[in-house]
Amino acid sequence: MSGSNSTSTSMKFAVRAWSNGRARAGILHLPCCPAPIETPSLLLSTRKGLPPFISPDLLPSLPSPDSHLLQVSPLHFLEGLSIKTISKIGGLHQLLALHDYGFVAFPRDSIQCLPEAKGSNKTGASFETPCGRLLIKPVEYMEMISSMRPELWATLADEVPAWVTEKRNKASVDRTIKWLDECIALSPAGGAVFGSIVGGSSSEERQRCAQEVARRNIAGYWIGGFGLGESMDERPALLNVVTEFLPEEKPRLISGLGLPEEILQGVAAGVDLFDSTYIYHLTLGGFALTFPLDRMEKNASNIASSDAGSDLRKISLRATIFRKDTTPIVEGCKCYTCQNHTRAYINHLLNVHEMLAQILLEIHNTHHFLGFFRSIREAIKEGRFEEFKKDFVQSRCDQLAVAASDLSLSEMSLV
Ligand SMILES: [Zn+2]
Repeated sequence: MSGSNSTSTSMKFAVRAWSNGRARAGILHLPCCPAPIETPSLLLSTRKGLPPFISPDLLPSLPSPDSHLLQVSPLHFLEGLSIKTISKIGGLHQLLALHDYGFVAFPRDSIQCLPEAKGSNKTGASFETPCGRLLIKPVEYMEMISSMRPELWATLADEVPAWVTEKRNKASVDRTIKWLDECIALSPAGGAVFGSIVGGSSSEERQRCAQEVARRNIAGYWIGGFGLGESMDERPALLNVVTEFLPEEKPRLISGLGLPEEILQGVAAGVDLFDSTYIYHLTLGGFALTFPLDRMEKNASNIASSDAGSDLRKISLRATIFRKDTTPIVEGCKCYTCQNHTRAYINHLLNVHEMLAQILLEIHNTHHFLGFFRSIREAIKEGRFEEFKKDFVQSRCDQLAVAASDLSLSEMSLV
C-alpha cells in the first residue's frame, strides 16, 4: 500500500459543487490538457487512441477542453506494434502525436474488449478481443501501461456479469483487490492510479470491495462490473453503496454506463467520469442526436407524433424524409458538421456508403453528447440536478408513449 504512486502524479481534482446529496461538479486538472476539465465529464471512446471516425486534424474542431480525455484500452494494441516499440517511441502521446490530450487506460472497452469471466482465473483476467480470447496477468498489463504512459490508468479487475454465483462474485472481489496491490507494486512513476472496484450485483460485495480499495493510497477509483446484466432498477442502490465508502475528494470513473439515462444514474450516485460507446453505436447506425440541451421540455404535446425517422432524441438520417432536407442536423449547433453540411447531404453519403457520413455524424454526436454533460454540470451548479434528471427521463417516457401509438414505429430504433 505504498503511497509513492499517487504522490508522484500531477493529476489534480477538486469537487466544487453538490446537488441533491451526491451529484457533484468538479474540476480535473491534467498538465497535458490546455485547461482544467470540468466534471461530470465524458471520456471519448477510441480505437487505438483515436475516436473511431475522427482523424487527428479534425479532433481540434470538438469542444475544448471537454473533448481532451481519451479512453484507451491497452489490449487494442496487442495485434500491432510491440510494447517495446511503443515504449521506444515514447508512449501514446508520441505515437499518436496528441500532446495536449489526456489518456485514460483500462483493459476493457464496451465494443471490442469485453471481460470474459469464464476464462479468468486466479492468475489473470480474460477478455474477448479482436485477437481472440486473451488471459492478461497483472505483470503483463503493467508492462503495457508502462510503455504507453497514460495520464490515468485503472488496475486490472476480474469483472463478472450480474448472474454469477455468490462464490464466483466473491472470488472476483478477492482477485481484484489482490491484483490492485500487485499493479501498484509494479506501477511505473507517473500516471494516476485508479483502484478498480467490482462486486457484481451484491451490495455486500460492492461495499466490501469499495472499503478495501478506499484503504489504498491511490489517486481515484474505477468502478467496474456495471452494464453486465444488472437491471436499471437495482443499479442506483449498487452505485450508492460503492460511492458511500469512497473518499469525497478523489475522482470516480465508471465503465459500462453509456446511455443518457445511465449517465444520469451515475451522476446521481456521485460518479465524475464516464466512458460511453453510445456515440459509436449511434454513428454506425446512421443516427444523429437531436434532443434539446437546455431545460428539458416537459410538455408531451410538443412532441410531433409523425416525424418519420425520429424519436425526438435522435433522427435516423437514412430515412427517406431527409433526402431533400436542406437544414443542418440541429439548427444552431456549433459543430463542424452542422455549420457546413445538410441532412440531405449526410443522407446521400449514407446511401452511397461513404465513410464521410460516419465522420460527420461522429463529430456532431460527440459535440451534442458533450453538450449533454455541460447541461448536467450546469444543473448541478444551480442545485437542480434532480429536477433535470426527472425531466429528462420523463420526456423520454412521453416520447415512448407517443412512439408506441405511432404507425411509423418500425422505422425507429428505441435504444
Ligand atoms: Zn452539430
